Amino acid sequence: MNIIMLGAPGAGKGTQAKRLAEGYGIPHISTGDILRSNISRGTELGQKAKGFIDAGALVPDDLVIQLVADRLEEEDAKAGFIFDGFPRTIPQAQSLDQMLKEKGRKIEFAVNIDVPDQVIVERMSGRRFCINCGASYHTEYLKPQTEGVCDKCEGELALRKDDEPETVLKRLEVYHDQTEPLIAYYRNNGVLKEVDGTKEVAEILAEIRKQLGY
Ligand SMILES: [Zn+2]
Repeated sequence: MNIIMLGAPGAGKGTQAKRLAEGYGIPHISTGDILRSNISRGTELGQKAKGFIDAGALVPDDLVIQLVADRLEEEDAKAGFIFDGFPRTIPQAQSLDQMLKEKGRKIEFAVNIDVPDQVIVERMSGRRFCINCGASYHTEYLKPQTEGVCDKCEGELALRKDDEPETVLKRLEVYHDQTEPLIAYYRNNGVLKEVDGTKEVAEILAEIRKQLGY
């Protein structure tokens, strides 16, 4: 089963991808993990990628595709994979399709987790993390026993810059501009599945599994 997860940042792609991967016994693959793994192992592609990252540049698409292609050759990905956060743009999706075709494989499902912007902003701006131990909380969904204080170490809880409404809105703008067109792309390819991402995590998972027919 070759699956791509689509959805805005904060829509819950990662959570669902992880659970689906566990359920189906296939790897949950993010390009961030592939990059870190290649860099820490000092592979040739990893060293090339590191050059771009160290220079403050984006890793070029063709290099990302090569890294992904390598990852798909590993034993655990033979039966399938779930991509989370990749592809991000139409050119990446086209390159991915081409690369998969060369391997005799293809994307079978693109699952879009639909969540309105307003809900994403509310979810993310409620996140808190402990500045001492890194534990995470939420002002509505995962409250600490005492407001603003970590249950585990009594450290102070703070809002990450990344989770501030202005930052989230900027990321959503980039998403709408560059990544959202993938929904139409995969719809045209006949592989799109859409789920309502405002429901409970378990409900969303059940809906995805129902739509995938497994
Ligand atoms: Zn703590």
